[in-house]
Amino acid sequence: MRITALLLTACFTLSAHAGPQDTVKPHPAKEVAPGTWVITGPLGEPSVQNQGFMNNPGWIIAGDQVVVIDPGSSVQAGRMVVNAIKKTTGLPVTTVYNTHIHGDHWLGNQAILDAWPKAVLIAHPDMIAQAKASEAEMWVRLMGQMTQGYTEGTRAAIPTVATYDGMTSKIGTRVFKVLSSNDAHSKTDIMIEVDNGVLFTGDNVLNGRVGRLDDGTFKGKIRAIDSGLAMQPKVVVPGHGKSGGVAILQAQRNYFQTLYDAVKVEYNAGKSDFEMKPVVVKKLAAYKKWNGFDATVGKHISLAILEIEQE
Ligand SMILES: [Zn+2]
Repeated sequence: MRITALLLTACFTLSAHAGPQDTVKPHPAKEVAPGTWVITGPLGEPSVQNQGFMNNPGWIIAGDQVVVIDPGSSVQAGRMVVNAIKKTTGLPVTTVYNTHIHGDHWLGNQAILDAWPKAVLIAHPDMIAQAKASEAEMWVRLMGQMTQGYTEGTRAAIPTVATYDGMTSKIGTRVFKVLSSNDAHSKTDIMIEVDNGVLFTGDNVLNGRVGRLDDGTFKGKIRAIDSGLAMQPKVVVPGHGKSGGVAILQAQRNYFQTLYDAVKVEYNAGKSDFEMKPVVVKKLAAYKKWNGFDATVGKHISLAILEIEQE
């Protein structure tokens, strides 16, 4: 413990470009639907190289105001997002949705409040509870470690308004609908459907990347994706990876369903996770190039077995 603390101190002291006043380098924003903008973060884990920034912040211009979804991983990333918003509109941000507890999505809240102090922060009730308990502190610390201190100065601005499944809010000229779950990706996930046909999925859906399922379930994940598919969105903005159409939802669903079904066949034939891995991986050939596949597929097989045992 003491060694960790010392290492941490060393990291914070040595990091060359760190600074509480810094801003993540600009990333281009794309208008994925009229008045709806997304910055596509790089794929991968938070690092020194990406300045901890790797999620997909979005914003929707809704009449006389702006609604933000997931403004990034740190106050430095949030400042970059604020600058990008100001390039697209002079209107104020009034509302921020955070899709789930993982800090890469919401520690940028601080920068939004610095720019627009009256903005209201909204999230899943369990996200708010977990953040208050210990997760906020944990994520601030983790982000600092992963970026060797680059995100120093980041404080957790925890949402104050709790969502519920089906929560519908008219904000400015647009209507926002929340699809909520507690067994998909993180136990604290919301997806947000905007009435212009854009669906923000958070990490329930990724594009070109294999996500963690340690805190979720296959069944919950598939159910959440199905609720997204039922919305028939025109544009899908995943938690990580490029935005696109419903094919993103279908590919993500296919990966999890194929893996689960393949594991079940092998499990029923008496195979162990180690024995079944080559067969299962073969059935997932279409997804082998996804970022994180090799590192995560074994874990997913083990998690599928645990879930099948509980059926
Ligand atoms: Zn996540």
